[in-house]
Amino acid sequence: MHCPYCRNTDSRVVDSRTSDDGSQIRRRRLCPACGRRFSTVETTSLSVVKRSGVVEPFSRDKVVAGVRKACQGRPVTDDSLALLAQRVEESVRASGAAEIDAHDVGLAILGPLRELDEVAYLRFASVYQDFASLIDFESAIAALRADHEARRTAAGGAATADDPDASDSSDVSGAGADPSSAADDGAARPEA
Ligand SMILES: [Zn+2]
Repeated sequence: MHCPYCRNTDSRVVDSRTSDDGSQIRRRRLCPACGRRFSTVETTSLSVVKRSGVVEPFSRDKVVAGVRKACQGRPVTDDSLALLAQRVEESVRASGAAEIDAHDVGLAILGPLRELDEVAYLRFASVYQDFASLIDFESAIAALRADHEARRTAAGGAATADDPDASDSSDVSGAGADPSSAADDGAARPEA
């Protein structure tokens, strides 16, 4: 590693620290020529293999661009899209693979998008999973309803309220186990 100050071609590692989640290593280096210190961060490079076979670096911007289309007209902020892209990157990196199929990136988007905005999720899923008919929509919606139901019975309608991560997204989306969406659900499937 070249010294960024004097361009000396050698440096010595004086400290090495792995991040809590194990996804990166930060090294403190010392240049023996000029005596200055600098840091390097090491992460695995992550490549996406497209259906055409083309390989390109994983890009959060591309995730955001893809999801943004599905979010048109929905109350979804740029911040929440950025957070979604971060979660997608974390989940695909968690697989530990250096290369991932574009298809799997799409799969990794579905979960966080569903928490963010269910309408955007249905739009994205309909394109991504090639919904061919109303039946596909019906089964996707039925799965969402079943989830609402499960979360409501599990935690009395406040499943995500105690979770600081989840409350961020329910602010913008009103989705998840939020009482308003539980009310929508209740209209379709009366209970209690
Ligand atoms: Zn130097």
